[in-house]
Amino acid sequence: MKLDNDRILAVDSLVKYYGAGENLVRAVDHTSLEIERGKFTVIVGRSGSGKSTLLHLIGGLDRPDEGKVWIEGKDIFALKDDRLAEFRRKKIGFVFQDFYLMDSLSVGENIMVPMILDKASPKEMREKMHALANRFGVEKLIEKSPRELSGGEKQRIAICRALINDPEIIMADEPTGNLDVKSSRRLMETFDDINKEMKKNIILVTHDP
Ligand code: ADP
Ligand code: MG
Repeated sequence: MKLDNDRILAVDSLVKYYGAGENLVRAVDHTSLEIERGKFTVIVGRSGSGKSTLLHLIGGLDRPDEGKVWIEGKDIFALKDDRLAEFRRKKIGFVFQDFYLMDSLSVGENIMVPMILDKASPKEMREKMHALANRFGVEKLIEKSPRELSGGEKQRIAICRALINDPEIIMADEPTGNLDVKSSRRLMETFDDINKEMKKNIILVTHDP
């Protein structure tokens, strides 16, 4: 496959099967795609069609049975696990349907988790956390526990966390799946803003057209 600089991400013939024999599930079956820099890409498919599996593979959260993923020209599965994890933390921010916030940490600490893992300086972490919380209108929530937040607020916190290492790509798996219609619409506007104003590449999967 030819790679050029307009492509932030390229996927060549990815395969991920679960189970075996009669229980074999072809979750991702020779899928290829290329994504241009700067785009907001939405992958839509019915439940069970393999969207989450695909997103986990292209985000390096799981390894494929076959096939390759290049991010900015780098063959990500050629990296060993610890290097892949580091690459992922720097290049990709993830947002999930279930938020995955830690109740034992404050909202502000949740936002800083990716930087804590990279042993950044506390001062830098706090500055970035406050800047993002301000931008996304959640500054007032940073001392709270995630338990005290609405779904829409939780997802904005997850977005701040996804952005804190200033990644080039945001990957979102059914991010509006647990939100009401109004919060969903507002969240999609936020993603649009992250794409247009912050110039992030967005790859979002959903079953909801
Ligand atoms: P989607 O996100 O589009 O709903 P998934 O990627 O979650 O689809 O799942 C695709 C298929 O793979 C489904 O049939 C699902 O049951 C199966 N599957 C997903 N994860 C696993 C797993 N860890 N073990 C076995 N089967 C799985
Ligand atoms: Mg899914």
